Amino acid sequence: MADQERYMITSALPYANGPIHLGHLAGAYLPGDIFARYCRLKQRDVVYICGSDEHGVPIMLRARAEGISPQEVVDRYHAMIKESFEKVGMSFDYYGRTSSPVHHQTSRDFFEHLAEKDIFVRKTDKQLYDPEAGMFLADRFVRGTCPKCGYEDAYGDQCERCGTSLSPADLINPRSAITNARPVEKETTHWYLPLADFQPKLEAWINAHPEWRPNVLGQIQSWFRDGLKDRAVTRDLPWGVALPEAVARAAGVDASGKVLYVWFDAPIGYISATREWAAQQGDPDLWKRYWQDPQSKLVHFIGKDNIVFHCLIFPAMLMAHGDYVLPLNVPSNEFLNLEGNKFSTSRNYAVWLNEYLEKFDPDSLRYTLASNMPETRDADFSWNDFQARHNNELADILGNFVNRTFTFISKYYDGAVPARGALDALDQEMIEQIARAAVEVGEQLDAFRFKEATRRFMDLARFANKYFNDQEPWKTRKSAPEKCATTLNLCAQAARSLAVLMSPFLPFGARKLWQMLQLSGTPEAATWEGIADLQLPAGHRLGKLEILYSKIDDAVIAEEVQRLKQALSGANGAAEAAEVEHISIDEFKKIQLKTARVIAAEAIPKAKKLLKLQIELGTEKRQLVAGLAEHYRPEDLVGKTVIVVANLQPAVIRGVESQGMLLAVEDGGKLIVITPEQPAASGKPVA
Ligand SMILES: [Zn+2]
Repeated sequence: MADQERYMITSALPYANGPIHLGHLAGAYLPGDIFARYCRLKQRDVVYICGSDEHGVPIMLRARAEGISPQEVVDRYHAMIKESFEKVGMSFDYYGRTSSPVHHQTSRDFFEHLAEKDIFVRKTDKQLYDPEAGMFLADRFVRGTCPKCGYEDAYGDQCERCGTSLSPADLINPRSAITNARPVEKETTHWYLPLADFQPKLEAWINAHPEWRPNVLGQIQSWFRDGLKDRAVTRDLPWGVALPEAVARAAGVDASGKVLYVWFDAPIGYISATREWAAQQGDPDLWKRYWQDPQSKLVHFIGKDNIVFHCLIFPAMLMAHGDYVLPLNVPSNEFLNLEGNKFSTSRNYAVWLNEYLEKFDPDSLRYTLASNMPETRDADFSWNDFQARHNNELADILGNFVNRTFTFISKYYDGAVPARGALDALDQEMIEQIARAAVEVGEQLDAFRFKEATRRFMDLARFANKYFNDQEPWKTRKSAPEKCATTLNLCAQAARSLAVLMSPFLPFGARKLWQMLQLSGTPEAATWEGIADLQLPAGHRLGKLEILYSKIDDAVIAEEVQRLKQALSGANGAAEAAEVEHISIDEFKKIQLKTARVIAAEAIPKAKKLLKLQIELGTEKRQLVAGLAEHYRPEDLVGKTVIVVANLQPAVIRGVESQGMLLAVEDGGKLIVITPEQPAASGKPVA
């Protein structure tokens, strides 16, 4: 064991507030699994870890929406995700969860260690607080009217209707999503990871890895260019890993209601899951060998939305701690699209893994996704491509080769592998192709090029099929029996080699083929080096032929395509209907639109999007708050005649009263104030 290469492999922890879809599988899971399976065949010392990420605000929101506890939410999705992963063949050595006591303890210990080393800085700031619920409000827990589009149910961090990113202070009529109470501002203290201080060390470390994928390096460099900023690593929330009491006490802060930020504890989940695995092995300290021994190679498989956490924040935490290895590589994938559109979980425009697995073979999906993995750019999954890859490659190339080999041996050699005789040039070539495929697929996998590795492995099946054709055993059976026996011997050897070579990609078909070959154990227990050996002895009895992959009918595929089309048009139809919803003239007349003249305008401290305007409506003077600060300088608005909603219920925004709303056009993200085409007096009705 001592001189074995050692790998600590992780796949991103899925967030336990919904099921897994194909986009997730292609991003962080399938490549991690293929790599881990390959490493085991290479007889490397491997631990492959994943688990459910069970903290954070979206889980709390779902729990509230369903009237259940956050624990019930994560219990449901943890079980669902774990089951889907097992059925699709994910070979994790351990699948943990961040609600486990070991994880909470590991995260707190980690945090305390950093606090003892005086790594953190503390900042006290004002944050919105719900006086009725008695708790601070995360941005997502504040709802209110979007200052840009008027949507009344915008979140404190984003308006879902117009997509504008907001801060809670921007909302008009902010309210708590929990009690509907008007939030108040209250001081609170938080711990920050001073990422800026780590930038030089992080840059030096990243610069030593020019072999990483260009898309990953590109994203990291752009973070470096902007300059890393301090990140708050605690939150005022009732759900998460509690802030260690001792740390809070030392700072003179009340720890109650404070938890670690979900992105601080989630990557520590890899470590705690490895600890749980080690305990299960009966050697509680075994995890250190993978996380703390400098010989260990840490590889994180993630999707591109997680690059900042795995390439900057978590490594900074590991550096700050001091006892851990840093990632050797972070092969992050880009996004997978679906039939030319983005996955949309809210519109159910997705292929859910659990639903897929009820209808189809896991191998077909693994093969399609591996053949078309979004390695350096976004890729697209289509059902027609899925069918073509399954029927034309898995069934017609790999399956056909196995089928004709078994059929021939069964029919003419009574099911026993015939002996090899003298080898001709084509036989030599077949043997060389097997050896070369093992080397080349391995090289591609070690370079995290999964698409190319998949293509290269199928090439061996393609060559074997051609070899069978070119040797024409149906003719040589009578004209040259020794040559025919040699051909079928090599075909059987190739089938065995293929079973091992394909097992990282197609573990279910590989096992089936292994059983058909009547070999003991499983192909997973074979070795990569042994692929090139011709291990089947003459006279070895083959088992019963089964169809490795049966073809998928057009009608089945058409049904899936139709379902997605409906999801798409259903959602669009609803959106269109909403846009043309008619109102009566009486309803319209309720809105009093009037001209107004801007007589003064000024910025509002700490509200970077808002301006405070003084306006004149005829003889009346009023004050407005408008979300124009990023589009107009205050002085450019003074003197303009604008249109306002004069009878809008007054609201207090960021402590400033607003008595009306100004009309503006949004065009390409820019707001343009509406003014009369010719000079008009103020206070006049808009008809
Ligand atoms: Zn909006």
